[in-house]
Amino acid sequence: MGHTDLTSLLEEEVSFLRIKVRIHCKRCGERFVLRGRMEQGQIQTGFKRCICDNCEFIIEVMEKHA
Ligand SMILES: [Zn+2]
Repeated sequence: MGHTDLTSLLEEEVSFLRIKVRIHCKRCGERFVLRGRMEQGQIQTGFKRCICDNCEFIIEVMEKHA
């Protein structure tokens, strides 16, 4: 995941897609459904790590809309 500064966040406010993602933990198999957004092809959910302290996931986009 890349990072964006505040200036570019404001500029991209109109161009992101709202998405719903399913996150599947590679370690314990826990699944989470979250809402996030897609900006310039990058998925942003704010999700950092699983309850098992793992931070490697499979992320699947379920819904996409403007
Ligand atoms: Zn986990």
